Amino acid sequence: MPTTSSFISAFHRSLLIEHPWCAEKKKQKMVQPLNKNIQEGDNPDLTSERLTSTFNTNDMAAQIWGSEKRARRRREISAKIAQMPELHDSKPLPFMTREEKIMESARKLTILTEKMGQIIDPTDPAELYHLNNEVLGLEGNPMALHGVMFIPALSAQASDEQQAKWLPRALRREIIGTYAQTELGHGTNLQNLETTATYDLATQEFVLHTPQITALKWWPGNLGKSSNYAVVVAHMIIKGKNYGPHPFMVQLRDEKTHEPLPGITIGDIGPKMAYNIVDNGFLGFNKYRIPRTNLLMRHTKVEADGTYIKPPHAKINYSAMVHVRAYMLTGQAIMLASALNIATRYSSVRRQGQIDKSQPEVKVLEYQTQQHRLFPSIARAYAFQFAGAETVKLYEHVLKEMKSGNVSLMADLHALTSGLKSVVTYQTGEGIEQARMACGGHGYSMASYISEIYGVAIGGCTYEGENMVMLLQLARYLVKSAALVKSGQSSQLGPLVAYLGAKSEPTSLIDRIPNAGFTEYVKTFQHVAKRQTLKAAEMFFGLMEKGEKREIAWNKCSVELNRASRLHTRLFIVEAFVRRVNEIADIRIKEALTDLLHLHVNYELLDIASYALEDGFLSASQLDYIRDQVYLYLGKIRPNAVSLLDSWEFSDIELRSVLGRRDGNVYENLFKWAKSSPLNKTDVLPSVTQYLKPMMEKARL
Ligand SMILES: Cc1cc2nc3c(=O)[nH]c(=O)nc-3n(C[C@H](O)[C@H](O)[C@H](O)COP(=O)(O)OP(=O)(O)OC[C@H]3O[C@@H](n4cnc5c(N)ncnc54)[C@H](O)[C@@H]3O)c2cc1C
Repeated sequence: MPTTSSFISAFHRSLLIEHPWCAEKKKQKMVQPLNKNIQEGDNPDLTSERLTSTFNTNDMAAQIWGSEKRARRRREISAKIAQMPELHDSKPLPFMTREEKIMESARKLTILTEKMGQIIDPTDPAELYHLNNEVLGLEGNPMALHGVMFIPALSAQASDEQQAKWLPRALRREIIGTYAQTELGHGTNLQNLETTATYDLATQEFVLHTPQITALKWWPGNLGKSSNYAVVVAHMIIKGKNYGPHPFMVQLRDEKTHEPLPGITIGDIGPKMAYNIVDNGFLGFNKYRIPRTNLLMRHTKVEADGTYIKPPHAKINYSAMVHVRAYMLTGQAIMLASALNIATRYSSVRRQGQIDKSQPEVKVLEYQTQQHRLFPSIARAYAFQFAGAETVKLYEHVLKEMKSGNVSLMADLHALTSGLKSVVTYQTGEGIEQARMACGGHGYSMASYISEIYGVAIGGCTYEGENMVMLLQLARYLVKSAALVKSGQSSQLGPLVAYLGAKSEPTSLIDRIPNAGFTEYVKTFQHVAKRQTLKAAEMFFGLMEKGEKREIAWNKCSVELNRASRLHTRLFIVEAFVRRVNEIADIRIKEALTDLLHLHVNYELLDIASYALEDGFLSASQLDYIRDQVYLYLGKIRPNAVSLLDSWEFSDIELRSVLGRRDGNVYENLFKWAKSSPLNKTDVLPSVTQYLKPMMEKARL
C-alpha cells in the first residue's frame, strides 16, 4: 500500500512528466531572446549582454540593410558560405605573405566565378558586395577594381557599340580591367596629368605616351599584375589642340600569355599600409598605339577626320563620381561597424579592475570612458548607413531626372556627396582607431584585425578625391548659394541648402521646449552651418572686394570654407538620421534608434559647440544640458550596445577577428591563434642559430 507521503511525491513527480503536447505549448510560450545571436557554449559574459536587448536583432538588421528580405538574404548567403570550406581562408590572413594572400584570393575568386550563381543572385549588387566581403574580405582581391571601376566606367562612358564589344567580355571575366587615372606626379589636379593620347590622322589611331617619370600612371588598383585591360585617362591632342583628359580603353597585356604588350611598362607599386591583396600598379606608354574607336565615346566623339564633338552638358561627367561616392558611404559604415562590433564584444568579455572595490572585476564596457569611446561611433555607423541609403536613393532619382533632361539636381548631389565622402571617411577612421585602443594591448595584435580595417578604411580619405579637396568642392557650391542669399535670391537655392536663406531664431531652444523631438537640435545644426557658410563666404567676397585675385582670396579662406562644408555635411547626416527614425513603425526598433539618435545629436553638437557659443546661440547652461544628455544616453544604450552591433550580422568568417568572435571565447582562441604563428613552427629560429646565439657565445668567452 502506498503511504500518503509516497503518494504525494508520486503526484509531484507526475507533474514533472509532461504530455508532449504540453511541452510543445510551453516551448512556444517561452520567451525567445530578442537577440538572435545566442548559442550554447558562448561566453556567458557575452550572452548576458545579449539577453538585455530591448529589440529583435533581425528586425534591426532589416533597418540596417534596407528591408527584411535583404537582411534575410544576407543571412542565407552567410549560411551557404559557412558550408563551403573551399571559400574560407586556408589560414589567418595575418600569417600569410603578400604573395600568399594574392594567391589565396585568386584561388577563391575562381571558385566564386564558377559557383557564384549557387550562392547569390549575381545581378544583385548588394548580394555581390556581401559575398565579396565574406569570402574575399576587405584586403581586396585581384579583381577588386574590375567590378567597382572598370565595368562602371565602360557602362557610363562607352557608346552602345563599344559596350556591345567590351562589356559582355568583361562581365564573363574573359578580361580583367581597371581604371587608370592618377599619375606619379598628379592625382588631384587632373588638368595637369601628363599622359597624352595624340591623334594620328594618317592611321586613325591614338598614340599613348608618358613623356617622363612623373607621367607614369601610379596607384590604380590591380593595374600592376592582374589586369590585362584598363580605362586610361590621358590628355587628348588632335591636330595640335589639347582637349583635356579623356578616357580610353587600352589593352595592356597579351590575352594568351599575359605578358605586357610592346610599348608598355607595367608593375606593382609595392606594399601599402593595408589593402595589400590589391596590386596597385604603375604604367608607362612608349608611343603605344590604339584605334581611334578606343576613345570612350558615349558623350564625347572624335570623327575619323579628327573632328571633336563635345558632350551635350558637362554635368554628365559628375554622375560616375557621384555614384561611387554614394556607395562608398555604406562601405565605410560597414568598416566602422565591424571595428566597433569587435571592440564592443571584446569589452563585454574583458574584465579588468573594479568600480566598486567590494565587487568583482567589471567588464571594461562598464567604464563610462569606454562607453564614451565606443557608443558615439556606434551612432555614427548607423547615421552613415542611413545617410548612405538616402544618398543612393537621391542619386537614383537624379539619374531619372537627368534622363528626362533635368540636369540641375546633379550639381547639388555632387556637392553633397563630396562632403559626405570626406566627413564620413574621416570620422570612420577616427572611430576605428578608438575601437582599436578600446581593446587595449590585444587591439594592437593582428588577431583583432582592427588595424587592417583601419588601414583599408582610411584609404577612402584619399581615393575618389582627396578629402580636403572634396570639402573645397562642396565649399564652391556653398559660396554660390551664399551669393544667392546675399543678393536676395534665396528662392533659387537648391533643396539641400534652402536653410541658408531661412530666418533663424536668435537663440537655441534646446532644453526649453519639452518633447520637441529633434527639431531644436536640427535648427541648431542649421544655425551653425548657415552662420559659418555666410561668414566664410563673406570673408571670401570681402577679400575680392579689396582687390585680391579670386584664387588667392579662395586659398586665404579655405580653412574657414572647409569648416562650413563639414558643418553642412554633418547637418545632412543628422537630418537623414532623424528622417529615418521618424519613418520607423516598429516600436522597439524606434525606441532603440531614438536613444542612439539622442546620443548622436548631443555628442555631435558638443563636438561643434564652439560655433554655437561664438554668437551666443547656445548658452553655457545649454552646453551643460547637452553634456548631461550625452551621459544619460550612454547609460541608456549600454544594455543594447552588443545587440546594436550584432544586428549588422557580420559572420565570424567576414570579421576575421579573434577578439570579435560571435561566441566571445577570446582567450583560448587567442592562444590557439598565437600558436599557429609561423614563428612557432620551430623552437629555435635560424636568426638565433645564425646571429644571436654566436653573439651570446662570443660575449660569454
Ligand atoms: C588605396 C588607394 C587606392 C587608389 N586607387 C586608385 C585607382 O584605382 N585609380 C587611380 O587612378 N587612382 C587611385 N588612387 C590614387 C588617388 O585617387 C589619389 O592619390 C588621390 O586622388 C589624391 O591625389 P594625390 O595623390 O595626387 O594627392 P595630392 O593632390 O598630391 O595631395 C597631397 C596634399 O595636397 C593637398 N592638395 C592638393 N590639391 C589641393 C588643392 N587644390 N587645394 C588644397 N589642397 C590641395 C591635399 O589636400 C593633400 O593634403 C588610389 C589611392 C589610394 C591611397
